[in-house]
Amino acid sequence: MRILLYGGSFNPPHLGHIRSARTAAEALRPDKTLLIPAAIPPHKRLAAETPDRTDRFRMTALAADQIPGCEASDIELCREGPSYTSDTLRQLRERYPAAELVFLMGTDMLLSIESWHEPEVIMALAGLAIFAREAGREGEIAAQAAHLREKYGATVYVLDGEPVPVSSTQIRALLPERQGREYLPDGVYEHIIRHRLYGAKPDLAWLREKAYAYLKPTRVEHVRGTEAMARALAARWGADPEDAAEAAILHDCTKKISPDGQLRTCEKYGIIPDKWEMENPELLHAKTGAAFAADRFGAPGPIESAIRWHTTGRPDMTLLERIVFLADAIEEGRKPYPALDAIRKAAFEDLDAAVELCARRTVEYVTRRGPSLHPDTVRTQAFYLKKLEAKGASPIRWEAP
Ligand code: ATP
Repeated sequence: MRILLYGGSFNPPHLGHIRSARTAAEALRPDKTLLIPAAIPPHKRLAAETPDRTDRFRMTALAADQIPGCEASDIELCREGPSYTSDTLRQLRERYPAAELVFLMGTDMLLSIESWHEPEVIMALAGLAIFAREAGREGEIAAQAAHLREKYGATVYVLDGEPVPVSSTQIRALLPERQGREYLPDGVYEHIIRHRLYGAKPDLAWLREKAYAYLKPTRVEHVRGTEAMARALAARWGADPEDAAEAAILHDCTKKISPDGQLRTCEKYGIIPDKWEMENPELLHAKTGAAFAADRFGAPGPIESAIRWHTTGRPDMTLLERIVFLADAIEEGRKPYPALDAIRKAAFEDLDAAVELCARRTVEYVTRRGPSLHPDTVRTQAFYLKKLEAKGASPIRWEAP
């Protein structure tokens, strides 16, 4: 029996790890491959933003899913103190007395192995399989392999394959910039975004693909329009256009859920519908959408609350809340309604006047149609009317038809 072992910080595991493990598995045909995240790597400090052990184990397990015959092992995460490879190999030797153990590593590790804790024990207990992290270092690898064979009687397999020259460090720096997805297995990226590990923000192309799957096809154009308008408003008023786009992409993510489904979703997220929402559960998509966006896509507080208030509005909204509230109402694909042109114009001239008119028009429209005018909209209109008066501005003149 041959067992391939791959130890590392896996912080996060990336396509370089996957490529090398797959190549090793194809070349060495192990009966089993184990990815072993280190609890405390002895030779490097874990970055400050390192997720906890549960998240690192979960990400490693998701990466292992991409490699045939592979699983994640918590053998080092469960051990106290520095995660010495020699201790891990001793434990595995006891567990699998007859197995051939092969420890897979990249170029950097091969070249530094003599500085590890008990290198002679490592090379006595396991063979080494080497996969280059970057092209052009074949000479160095061959020389080190010869040296280790000579000095320690090591078994060294040098693997042949196209390197993926990337490191977890580079990826951690890219993730907050909405980049780096191309270096990560899908499941790992999804986990990182859902829990916003490493300060990650989602790649918006990825987010659109995922979020649109929750929409009725006929709603996609509206969401695209809302995103475009939210970006334009953000650029006009000094908000982050990408954050505005993220909120807009997610704002209707539970809209297609039926009234019963809305109530079930409320139960799931501990939302207590108010009297107006019970009468008109459609209103609930703002609350359920915010909760779902946070749960499924890790939407952070400011984005969550922009989704939360996009339908009724509320007094004293944040800039992002006002942007999404208006973008939803005035995006280019909206069927014309009275006051639309006036709100659109105002949205680029006086944001508060636009919010006031938008709320006023909703009050008028919903009152005319029947029940369930939500008091938050009434309060929103009153608040922004006062705000306009306080700054000496007049509300926009508009007569309900
Ligand atoms: P960090 O940037 O946080 O130091 P890393 O990208 O070097 O992380 P580790 O999890 O520390 O990744 O590495 C675990 C093992 O994977 C090591 O043996 C390392 O040489 C190897 N390795 C890492 N990246 C690659 C890669 N792109 N190609 C091949 N092997 C790699």
